[in-house]
Amino acid sequence: MGKPGDASCAAEHVDVLIVGAGISGIGSAYHLQQQCPGTTFAILEKMESFGGTWLTHRYPGIRSDTDLYTYGYRFKPWTGVPLATADEIRAYMAEIIAENGLARHIRYRHRIVTARWSSAERRWSVEAQVGEAGETRRFTCGFLWMCQGYYRHEQGYTPDWPGFADFAGRVVHPQTWPDDLDLTGRKVVVIGSGATAATLIPAIAGSCGHVTMLQRSPTYFRIGRNAVPIADELRALGIDERWIHEIVRRRILHDTHAFHRRTFSEPEAVKKDMIDGIRRHLGSEAIVDEHFTPRYRPWQQRMVFVPDADVFKQIEAGQVSVVTDEIERFEPKGIRVRSGALLEADIVVTATGFHLSVMGDIDFVVDGRPVDWPETVTYRGMMFTGVPNLAWIFGYFRASWTLRSDMVGDFVCRLLNHMKATGAGQVMPMLRPEDADMKLGPWVDPENFNPGYIMRQQHLLPRRGDKPEWQHLHDYWAEKDQLPAIDLTDRAFVYA
Ligand SMILES: Cc1cc2nc3c(=O)[nH]c(=O)nc-3n(C[C@H](O)[C@H](O)[C@H](O)COP(=O)(O)OP(=O)(O)OC[C@H]3O[C@@H](n4cnc5c(N)ncnc54)[C@H](O)[C@@H]3O)c2cc1C
Repeated sequence: MGKPGDASCAAEHVDVLIVGAGISGIGSAYHLQQQCPGTTFAILEKMESFGGTWLTHRYPGIRSDTDLYTYGYRFKPWTGVPLATADEIRAYMAEIIAENGLARHIRYRHRIVTARWSSAERRWSVEAQVGEAGETRRFTCGFLWMCQGYYRHEQGYTPDWPGFADFAGRVVHPQTWPDDLDLTGRKVVVIGSGATAATLIPAIAGSCGHVTMLQRSPTYFRIGRNAVPIADELRALGIDERWIHEIVRRRILHDTHAFHRRTFSEPEAVKKDMIDGIRRHLGSEAIVDEHFTPRYRPWQQRMVFVPDADVFKQIEAGQVSVVTDEIERFEPKGIRVRSGALLEADIVVTATGFHLSVMGDIDFVVDGRPVDWPETVTYRGMMFTGVPNLAWIFGYFRASWTLRSDMVGDFVCRLLNHMKATGAGQVMPMLRPEDADMKLGPWVDPENFNPGYIMRQQHLLPRRGDKPEWQHLHDYWAEKDQLPAIDLTDRAFVYA
């Protein structure tokens, strides 16, 4: 160990270095071990344990909002109810780590700060700060597998509203939920109406004096049961869990695809169905019109699944109320909204989203030149022009993240095996002559999908082209056929 930049520190070398021990990093380690036997690897994780998102988020009620048959890996059966708590997801990951001997590859409390590629040496040199003291440890690797997610784990995003400092109560962001927060009998205002708010509110409403959900605009809520009937039927018949996992995955993917297509082919009908679903649980038409009738088309933002209509039952019972308005300013007693009303609060929960983290906030340098990510163009949302021997896992917005992390895992392993077989030490995506006039745009098309954390900072992300190979399609049903068929000898890949 030594000080940052101290060239005398001995570096540990592995073939592949995985950044992050979240759902992507653990899955990648599994695929590497299975599909590239003999490849040495390590996972560097800055937190004290595995889980990523499911370790960071500790707010009451924290759970997945997609089902675990598809959010779980394709290779490890999920045996519980579809929506799972953070603890259940971590327990599932712990089994994978134990069953596959992955623990010895993981180095916790290692925050990667710099990564330098040398074409002469055909390797990355990586510096990590270790533990509280931040001592520097050096690693070298032939390939960097970025599984660092897309948001900063240390702190969530909270806008700086006028008068914020005047508020006499407590402000809490769900991403950094304090252990000592006593909500008993308190007036709580939750700002936001996304998945976090919809999960948190049912979990706290029973103990609070009252909860107000304050939203700037309505969200799409989809009501259903936290159950998949076919899973229960197959289980009752004593079918092998591996079969159940595969069959239920196919059932869910089939149904999700049909629904997905409908949101594009008949968005108004889908919108009506969803709002009618809410109407069945709320007595007041006015509440539905004002607070649950979104202004954008279905799936332009992630939809929120509400199991057993829990939050709507609480609205009907008077435990929860909804306000659709904009924040004018904070005052000592609460939040003044544009319409003039004061929403009194002892505690304000800011479920206002994330800070984007571009490539784990790591300083990247390629052959002495700092990497400017917006100057790069993505190859299928996995690799980047001008950046050798690096792949990133970015999952899906409209389907479970892990569906893609499994497929990117297959692609990276196939690429590594191809390089080994052909003796290549370097691979880098490059625009081909036929791509010279290709139109470039931001990472995500805002018309297609526009969550706040991406829109605020997507100028910092790599760009996309207008051909399928130069963009992240956000379409599992297209990519499930396209990714396995990628021609590794295509001129988009430059080997050396
Ligand atoms: C509350 C919540 C609920 C969600 N629910 C769902 C859901 O139900 N379904 C779904 O599909 N998606 C969901 N998502 C999206 C979710 O982020 C992804 O599903 C998935 O967890 C991302 O996994 P990941 O491993 O790629 O990244 P993360 O979970 O973000 O993990 C990345 C890991 O990398 C580490 N890391 C980052 N930078 C560095 C560095 N420089 N050095 C070392 N380590 C580093 C981090 O500490 C972290 O452990 C949810 C997100 C949130 C916040």
